[in-house]
Amino acid sequence: MKLSSRVSGLRPYIPGEQPADRVYVKLNANESPYPPSPAVENELRGFRTETLRLYPDPDSRDLRKAIAGMPGMDVTPDMVFPGNGSDEVLSFIFCTFFDPSLPVIFPQHSYSFYPVYAGFYHLPVRTVPLRPDFSLDTGTMAQPGNAGVIFPNPNAPTGILLETSGLRAFLQQQTENNPGRAVVVDEAYIDFGGESALPLLREFPELIIVRTFSKSFSFAGLRLGYAVSSPENIRALETVKNSFNHFPVDRIAQRLGIAACSDAAYYRRVCAEIAATRDQFSAGLQKAGWQVLPSKANFVFARCPGRSGQEVYEAAKKEGFLLRVFGTPGTEDFVRITIGTPQDMQTLLECLEKYCAAK
Ligand code: PMP
Repeated sequence: MKLSSRVSGLRPYIPGEQPADRVYVKLNANESPYPPSPAVENELRGFRTETLRLYPDPDSRDLRKAIAGMPGMDVTPDMVFPGNGSDEVLSFIFCTFFDPSLPVIFPQHSYSFYPVYAGFYHLPVRTVPLRPDFSLDTGTMAQPGNAGVIFPNPNAPTGILLETSGLRAFLQQQTENNPGRAVVVDEAYIDFGGESALPLLREFPELIIVRTFSKSFSFAGLRLGYAVSSPENIRALETVKNSFNHFPVDRIAQRLGIAACSDAAYYRRVCAEIAATRDQFSAGLQKAGWQVLPSKANFVFARCPGRSGQEVYEAAKKEGFLLRVFGTPGTEDFVRITIGTPQDMQTLLECLEKYCAAK
């Protein structure tokens, strides 16, 4: 069969592995170790299967209202664009806002789906190396001549947060040098100790914030994410969405998403628990001689001196823990470890201590 020439150049995203040979503690995809709120369980139990014969609301109006109404959001529903996971929202953003006439900018080490979308939409790319301490080189990212910028905050896989003062300074420089070009801040991990860019939306019409329910809302299996930006930017995203898939968020996801939004207090507690486990685990690794980057996410990026990331990954796998290695130039020594329950992290810490001591 002849395939479209569009397909031959594609380099698809490779997600964290899901092996079936035994039961692993999965610490390789930044999933939550905790269940969604009991409000979600109640909603699912009361869900009327009969309603599935009807299409969902294509505009997810009630879900938008629920997202906009969450504590700390301070936005209107017409500033919210829900989608089938934030990956889909990101895809629409690449299509809508980055013009192929100029390169789109992202950090050299960041979410590995960005280059995939750039390839899919035939966008030229300029990647900007991180600073020696693995923080973002925002000065270089804001240089004139880009079609827009995208990065996760906190960054992935480093976990390092760009504080609001640094973010504002970057936005000022970028929008002065590249007026009207989108700045996309991917806040997939913001709820684990970061400060959201939401208050900057009023100052910078170029700002688009992307969020997911997959991590802090324990919904990786449901597929729900959203963008927040000006009503004008959201309308542009709707045009693209309605040219691709009119109904990206199904009836069940809309109902359960609304239920999740009603219990923000539960998720705040869960995120605080994960952040506390992270800090304890990081301190333990450091005590054992590891280098651990300062993370504000639900994972840590760390290296055991004298061992490659691949070696650590394999040693952990033998003990029943799945970690993630990227092996990209400059990160070969590192593993990314998702934060699980305190018990799992304690067991892993003991394994890793023993492994690295046995050198
Ligand atoms: N952004 C970043 C930085 C991520 O790490 C992920 C998770 N792989 C996503 C977006 C996508 O999340 P989802 O599609 O599950 O909402």
